Amino acid sequence: MNDCVFCRIAAGQAPATKVYEDDTLCAFLDIRPIARGHTLVIPKRHASELEDLDAELGAHIFRAGHRLALAIRRSDLAADGANLVLNDGTAAFQTVPHVHLHVIPRRHGDKLSFAAGLLLRRPHDPESTAAAIRAGISALAHEDETSAEERE
Ligand SMILES: [Zn+2]
Repeated sequence: MNDCVFCRIAAGQAPATKVYEDDTLCAFLDIRPIARGHTLVIPKRHASELEDLDAELGAHIFRAGHRLALAIRRSDLAADGANLVLNDGTAAFQTVPHVHLHVIPRRHGDKLSFAAGLLLRRPHDPESTAAAIRAGISALAHEDETSAEERE
């Protein structure tokens, strides 16, 4: 194991409030969120930048970010939208050298609170926030089941 903090989070060796994980990726709350529900999706296997990341895994990470954005809309966070952002390389302000996709919930008219969030980056009750996102993921899975039944 290396000293990469995101590798340690992926391995469960550093604390993080996880909202989702599978064999190859995990998603957890940013400890310095710009907005409530700001989540990071990372590959479990270390890749510093896109240069080192398997393209299929990159697609899988985006798929997970896409799904999280939908889940956050359905959650009690009641987002109206999201910014999905990946800063690749220090030239692009990547701060942790392990690829991560930001999913940042947005609401209509949040320009001022978003700007404040960029400066303050204060956590907002991580446990209840994560619970809301997990509930949104469940709601989304339930919708998928219902629409699959309708197709049959
Ligand atoms: Zn790493």
